[in-house]
Amino acid sequence: MLKKVLIANRGEIALRILRACRELGIKTVAVHSTADRDLKHVRLADESVCIGPARSTESYLNIPALISAAEVTNADAIHPGYGFLSENADFAERVESSGFIFIGPRAETIRLMGDKISAKEAMHKAGVPCVPGSGGATPDDEQECLALAEEIGYPVIIKATGGGGGRGMRVVKSAAELISSIDMTRSEAKAAFGNDVVYMEKYLGTPRHIEFQVLADEHGNAIHLCERDCSMQRRHQKVVEEAPAPGLTDEERARIGEVAAGACREIGYRGAGTFEFLYENGGFYFIEMNTRLQVEHPVTELITGVDLVKQQLLIAAGEKLTIKQEDVRIQGHAIECRINAEDPNTFAPSPGKITRYHVPGGLGVRVDSHIYADYTVPPYYDSMIGKLIVHGEDRETAINRMNGALTEMVIEGIKTNIPLQRRIMMDAVFRKGGMDIHYLEKKLGILS
Ligand code: ADP
Repeated sequence: MLKKVLIANRGEIALRILRACRELGIKTVAVHSTADRDLKHVRLADESVCIGPARSTESYLNIPALISAAEVTNADAIHPGYGFLSENADFAERVESSGFIFIGPRAETIRLMGDKISAKEAMHKAGVPCVPGSGGATPDDEQECLALAEEIGYPVIIKATGGGGGRGMRVVKSAAELISSIDMTRSEAKAAFGNDVVYMEKYLGTPRHIEFQVLADEHGNAIHLCERDCSMQRRHQKVVEEAPAPGLTDEERARIGEVAAGACREIGYRGAGTFEFLYENGGFYFIEMNTRLQVEHPVTELITGVDLVKQQLLIAAGEKLTIKQEDVRIQGHAIECRINAEDPNTFAPSPGKITRYHVPGGLGVRVDSHIYADYTVPPYYDSMIGKLIVHGEDRETAINRMNGALTEMVIEGIKTNIPLQRRIMMDAVFRKGGMDIHYLEKKLGILS
């Protein structure tokens, strides 16, 4: 088993990882920037190391600082969490070449999945249904591009192969805009990602976002842990997540879940991962794979009873998966609301000192957060300050439980999106379930 894990992250996920390590008797090393000395997990960790100034490029993204922190503390493994360096293949490589275990997939898998064209090619080969498209970079010849778009059928979307975070994409409605759109996406992609390769896909008008959680070990075993519906989004950022996806049939779940697990075996995947799909008119279309733990992993934990972080640690230690596919059963329904330090109307970040804090409780209520009364939310990082997650015997119970928990939750001193989350829980369309990815923005009156 692992003896000491360095947690290369901050906030709620660092605390989540620390808790899993503790349960397995693994010692922990917290790393933090100068702005994060007061983080809860820094106090709870066995050791802590300051790795640099507030700016994440000089701390949480500073590979040499992280590696030396692992060296001086004698850690044997590094957990990257999500965001920051979690999907950076160079980091995974450096971790392993410095003699530590990277808690995640092999560097080459991260690299393969980090490039959208190669990821789609690999998935297509493994039998995963993809969005119809150019099947590679768009051709250089303008006539060929026009013919290709005609064949796919407008509207199409031009996407940068190196893109991420919802950037580097452009929807094209007709042939008249095609060539100029390709050129613009290319130059933007070059500036933003240092890679001007773009590809073309059919643009789906009203899809839902449904993703499958997988776990795979070093020994060729892979399972799926069903799906999450993350269609409630604003600016491509998930706001509410739930599991299972409303209305999905057992047959669809088993079929796509098995395709995802099969793809893991095919590419020699290791660790926890997520296959993201757009789902429209009964069809699944792969868009990307996240080769790390996701923010929304708790909803899967609540409906399956599987601790995903513990599984990551066991897999990293070289153990065989002990959960069999037939052991994975869905129990009830789970919902997660992301709690952000932001204005609920303008979405402007709202860092500052938390003056009062009351946590909700009761049956089926889980709070994953690092905040406490008197904690100051720094302005330098993501505005998410925690997650409120509930579990109930069915979706309606879960929604009502979430509504109650949001009402009980008190965070004063800063603004939060709790009022928005309460509006969502009361929304008739959300309560019915199955809304598409544009629904929330339409409700908010924002056109992206
Ligand atoms: P990123 O890596 O930047 O998150 P994705 O490929 O996951 O990029 O796409 C982000 C979002 O863009 C999707 O969740 C969806 O809302 C939209 N999108 C991407 N591809 C398509 C498509 N072919 N049709 C419709 N919407 C799409």
